Amino acid sequence: MTITISTDVAEFVRAECGENVYLCYQCEKCSSGCPTAPAMRYRPAQMMRLAQFGLENVLVHDASIWRCLGCDTCTAHCPHDLSVRRLVEVMRHHVMQDVYLPNGIDALDGDDDLRKGCGRWG
Ligand code: SF4
Ligand code: SF4
Repeated sequence: MTITISTDVAEFVRAECGENVYLCYQCEKCSSGCPTAPAMRYRPAQMMRLAQFGLENVLVHDASIWRCLGCDTCTAHCPHDLSVRRLVEVMRHHVMQDVYLPNGIDALDGDDDLRKGCGRWG
């Protein structure tokens, strides 16, 4: 997998969902309250860090963004009211529109579990 670094993703997330990922200081309270964090390669706090660093390719090609239940427990725990759910929604929309649909199954080369359509424990 090729990893590209772009600072655009943080601005993109802010514009699309109003989430300022730069407020995140990695306290991990979101991860500790997330019911599906154990099934994620990148925990909620790590997803925020990847967005801060503009490493959208890592998020795009990994199943972690598809394991979020949308419960918003992360927001309830976060000292800055940051929501990984909102970040995940924006990333899902982005990858469906710009990556998966144009490139088909080849876009899933970074995650065999996602390609097979099964869970990490499947
Ligand atoms: S909204 Fe998603 S990331 Fe946030 S706590 Fe729920 S499952 Fe985890
Ligand atoms: S709880 Fe908020 S500040 Fe703490 S790691 Fe999660 S998103 Fe970042």
